[in-house]
Amino acid sequence: MKLYYDFHIHSALSPCGDDDMTPNNIVNMSILKGLDAIAVTDHNNAANCEACVELGRRNGIIVVPGMEVQTKEEVHVLCLFKTIEKVKSFEAELYKHFEWIPNSEELLGRQLIFDENDELKGEEKRLLIHSVDLSIYALVELAHSHEGLAIPAHIERKAFSLIANLGFLPPDLKVDALELSKMTAHEKFTAKNPMYRNYRFISNSDAHYLHDISERENWLEVDEKNIESIFKTLGRSSKGGLK
Ligand SMILES: [Zn+2]
Ligand SMILES: [Zn+2]
Repeated sequence: MKLYYDFHIHSALSPCGDDDMTPNNIVNMSILKGLDAIAVTDHNNAANCEACVELGRRNGIIVVPGMEVQTKEEVHVLCLFKTIEKVKSFEAELYKHFEWIPNSEELLGRQLIFDENDELKGEEKRLLIHSVDLSIYALVELAHSHEGLAIPAHIERKAFSLIANLGFLPPDLKVDALELSKMTAHEKFTAKNPMYRNYRFISNSDAHYLHDISERENWLEVDEKNIESIFKTLGRSSKGGLK
């Protein structure tokens, strides 16, 4: 069956995310858009995932907890997990490799943390948008060791991307899928770049504002509408050519 998704949404925890990107607003807008599943993926932090997952559970939409990690090479990678426990233990390991630098609110924006009633729980004072001290190889391995998926984000973009920063996708890098920016058609991209044709591509909104959350346009074929089936479809073992 088709599952309509948007697996790259920033909340108000990302300094660049609008302050209206609260858990209730994100979940309700995603339901209005007719999506079956979303992922909340802030920069290098998962503090708003718990409220979003709980609201998803109450309102009948799948919310996958995750984050968008910036590797040492300044490549953005979506890391998605099956449960809050998994994303938290992943974050704890990740933070052993993440230098504490203060956020500059005036320059970059606030980093807001909410509960499931959209009550402000706190603010993250450390700067979230800089690189962790892990290579992309080490990050992919860390995500997999927590049963997570590692999906390089907006790979064809001119900055913070696999192609811009590494030049190409190393064939021995065990990513699960690849994200293309929403304006890039998958077929067009693989026609120009045939070396990527064995990979699964996904397209997300990378929304920082409510109105940018995807319409019911991108879908995955899944056995059932649940997290297990999403991970089965997106996991690298699901695609023939990948080893
Ligand atoms: Zn990004
Ligand atoms: Zn993003």
